[in-house]
Amino acid sequence: MEWVFISLGLKIGSFLNVCIVRLPRRQSVVSPRSFCTHCGQPLKPYDNIPLISFLLLRGKCRFCKANISWQYPVVEALATAIYWVTYVSYGLQWKTAVLLVFFSALIVLVFIDLYHRLLPDVITLPGIAVGIALSLLVGIENDAGTALLQLAGLPESLGRWGWLVNSLMGALVCSGFLWVVGAVYFKLKKVEGLGGGDLKLMGMVGAFLGVKLGLLTIMLGSLLGVLVGLAYIRMTGKDYRYPLPFGSFLGVAAIGVALWGEQLLSWYLGITGRI
Ligand SMILES: [Zn+2]
Repeated sequence: MEWVFISLGLKIGSFLNVCIVRLPRRQSVVSPRSFCTHCGQPLKPYDNIPLISFLLLRGKCRFCKANISWQYPVVEALATAIYWVTYVSYGLQWKTAVLLVFFSALIVLVFIDLYHRLLPDVITLPGIAVGIALSLLVGIENDAGTALLQLAGLPESLGRWGWLVNSLMGALVCSGFLWVVGAVYFKLKKVEGLGGGDLKLMGMVGAFLGVKLGLLTIMLGSLLGVLVGLAYIRMTGKDYRYPLPFGSFLGVAAIGVALWGEQLLSWYLGITGRI
């Protein structure tokens, strides 16, 4: 079964590349077929095999010999690794399918934000809706929503409706929390630190992961942003006002948290003796 997920990861990775290149330009992701972005020649099917074609062509277009962007093999390898890890971690169940939808959207957002400082609504807004809808299929258990329902005196086992409330709460609380952080930052620094795209991205992450893991994503994403961002600014000698792709850091954190967040939390609560 593993090879099914590996080949799926390669194929989807190849499609995600098309999304990363075309969505910010508002081009269709289905037609025309793939072409060299340098000379415009349509790619032969045998030059469009994920990873393998890049290696065989040694990273150059067959027609004009222009360099093919490193993004193509990197995204294909990344998607394949993520598909494989998700299958190995969760096996053949709905949760795996839901996570793969979530991760695919995140990969596209991470790269588009990296290149353009942009998180297209065309992914984040449907992402919120899809996350909420899929919560009926694969539930977020024991989260803020469930606690709230219990406080309201509703029975503990609300099943799918409890999951749905957890997802809705996740979307609201995570984007709301980030909005507050952004507002405080603006008061203090008088510069816009966060974009609306970041809020919608966290709405999507919260819808898929719930309040607890969503807030963990914001924490780890910010930490990652500070560490990597400062290192990058130091190394390149850029100004401290250099706009960092915060959405990319949040996206990377969301993938890590979705896969290992629960383990990380129980390990952390274990060493701090709160269990
Ligand atoms: Zn070319």
